[in-house]
Amino acid sequence: MGKRIYNFNAGPAALPLPVLEEMQSELLDFKGSGMSILEVSHRSKWFDDVINEAVERTGRLLALGDDFHVLFIQGGASLQFCMIPMNLSLEGRPVDYINTGTWSTKAIKEAEILGKDVRVIASSEDKGFSYIPSAFTVDGDAAYLHFTSNNTIKGTQWAQFPDAGDLPLVCDMSSDIMSRPFDVRPFGLIYAGAQKNIGPSGTAVVIIRKDMLERTPKGIPSMLKYTTFAEKNSMYNTPACVVIYTINLVLKWLEETIGGLAKMEKINREKGAMIYNFLDSSDFYRGTAAKESRSLMNVTFRLLNEDLEKKFVAEALKQGLEGLKGHRSIGGCRASIYNATGIDAVKALVGFMVEFEKKEG
Ligand SMILES: *Cc1c(COP(=O)(O)O)cnc(C)c1O
Repeated sequence: MGKRIYNFNAGPAALPLPVLEEMQSELLDFKGSGMSILEVSHRSKWFDDVINEAVERTGRLLALGDDFHVLFIQGGASLQFCMIPMNLSLEGRPVDYINTGTWSTKAIKEAEILGKDVRVIASSEDKGFSYIPSAFTVDGDAAYLHFTSNNTIKGTQWAQFPDAGDLPLVCDMSSDIMSRPFDVRPFGLIYAGAQKNIGPSGTAVVIIRKDMLERTPKGIPSMLKYTTFAEKNSMYNTPACVVIYTINLVLKWLEETIGGLAKMEKINREKGAMIYNFLDSSDFYRGTAAKESRSLMNVTFRLLNEDLEKKFVAEALKQGLEGLKGHRSIGGCRASIYNATGIDAVKALVGFMVEFEKKEG
């Protein structure tokens, strides 16, 4: 096997090594089919078992019960920005959004393009999206309240989800789904592009409460309706078979190797504490997110100047630490430490940061 590096990419991102090894071991002959999973028909029993297993594992890991459908829809999280207002808005009622960064802003923009009555009921734009807003009131007359649970670019995360009363929550969990357990009951819809925390790119996972399907208005094209995907078990057309297969293996790893989301959260907290405690102890590095809003998935930080940041990223790469450059829109540095990035990787990163500070500080 070639050399594996420590991967801190924001997405597509690291996958658990046992998952990649399992894929490798059955790449040429999937479960005695004599075919690769890349070659089997999506109408075959082999793929049927895969997609059903992925749905069941999602249900068990998130304790969904019988009230939700689990769907796989291509087009990434970005397509959901428009499918949500198309399918879930209600005649004569506004749609509420909380704006905590680039991805929320994009979700808002799509609802506006569709001519919806969009209300931004809270925003952290006043301080460059460096925190999660806490003082806002939710008005029960909206069709739903949309928010982004983890802000991948700015490195902030909701520690506790907003309380919207009876209003269904709609949440973009692209970068922290399956990183911690939570109560699904207040959610009408949860969506996530797979490529951050649960698989490769190519599909979004959409978890929709069954009563939400009744909202779909007439006049929406088939491929843009949740009902189409729910009625056909996400196989109205050819799904992203290999992506769904990989997601299923990642979920299996979460269930059987990690032992569920409570255990995963414990590991994620340990990783977060390790790096944030170090950032707080140093005058050389500076975390950019407000302390109480810090993300356990994307750690954003700056060095004393941009030249040092460039050098930091380049030297890290030489030491086998990949992907530490901040998002192109804001610069700085970012370490994405999703589920598949282990404690060993975070230890290696902190070790490198200590050495770099000694040399350059
Ligand atoms: C990456 C990301 C997106 C965009 O996902 P695509 O699958 O590329 O459309 C949306 N929201 C969040 C929070 C993200 O991290």
